[in-house]
Amino acid sequence: MKDENVEQLDQLRETLQKAKSVVALTGAGVSAESGVPTFREAQTGLWARYQPEKLATSDAFLEDPPLVWEWYAWRRELVSSAEPNPAHRALVALENYYPNFALITQNVDGLHAEAGSRNIIELHGNISRVKCFNAHHPVENWDALEGSPPHCPLCGSLLRPDVVWFGEMLPEQALISALGAMQDCEVYFSIGTSALVHPAAALTVEAIKDLDVTVVEINPAETPITPYVDFALNGSAGQILPELVDLLVL
Ligand code: NAD
Repeated sequence: MKDENVEQLDQLRETLQKAKSVVALTGAGVSAESGVPTFREAQTGLWARYQPEKLATSDAFLEDPPLVWEWYAWRRELVSSAEPNPAHRALVALENYYPNFALITQNVDGLHAEAGSRNIIELHGNISRVKCFNAHHPVENWDALEGSPPHCPLCGSLLRPDVVWFGEMLPEQALISALGAMQDCEVYFSIGTSALVHPAAALTVEAIKDLDVTVVEINPAETPITPYVDFALNGSAGQILPELVDLLVL
């Protein structure tokens, strides 16, 4: 473990042991060690020449629906062969330890649920679900439908992944649940997120502004929030989170 992390974990130990209510916000970095690329990492093969931020928009979909649909099909394939990693499992251990624990995630890959986390708030939807573009009808069993993308059996509009694209509103209920979970939390984690994508990043800003909340960031890189958090643990989530769980059980 890095020296600066050892020192910080020592200082954190008592706060973590005493806390009853904890929130963790996770981002793409948590799934990186499962082989799911983050948006900021270079893409490979066929997709190397596209910028994900430009494909994950409704404008891109309207301009070229098959391109965006196929990109999500490729990402869905990647995710379906990915397994939860030690970071996902450590978050399950934290949920088992704390009486109140909420996991707010920007990830759409479903790996937190697969690992066994229960109180998950999906801010950006889930790549395994689809809905139609015009009316947002949820559509089940869409695998069997023809077309790339297929059409909605109810209204005929094109199907799209049920994820939040850049420039779109977050699902209202998820945002309400996230804000509710944060209300009484004593420790707030920001893990594997660049803290650049709003409004999710605004949750962390709110936690930082609240003097009663201890804010802990886990990331191998510096982010815009690093200078303002109480503890910045530098390294991969798959390594640091299990060490943090060890602090609680030892
Ligand atoms: P991001 O791509 O903007 O940033 C990823 C962050 O993770 C970076 O700060 C990076 O330093 C950090 N990181 C990389 N490896 C790490 C590791 N092993 N441990 C800890 N941190 C690590 O991701 P974001 O902030 O989540 O925002 C991107 C948007 O893209 C979100 O809206 C999200 O929905 C979407 N997205 C989701 C997935 C997924 O579901 N797995 C993957 C890519 C993008």
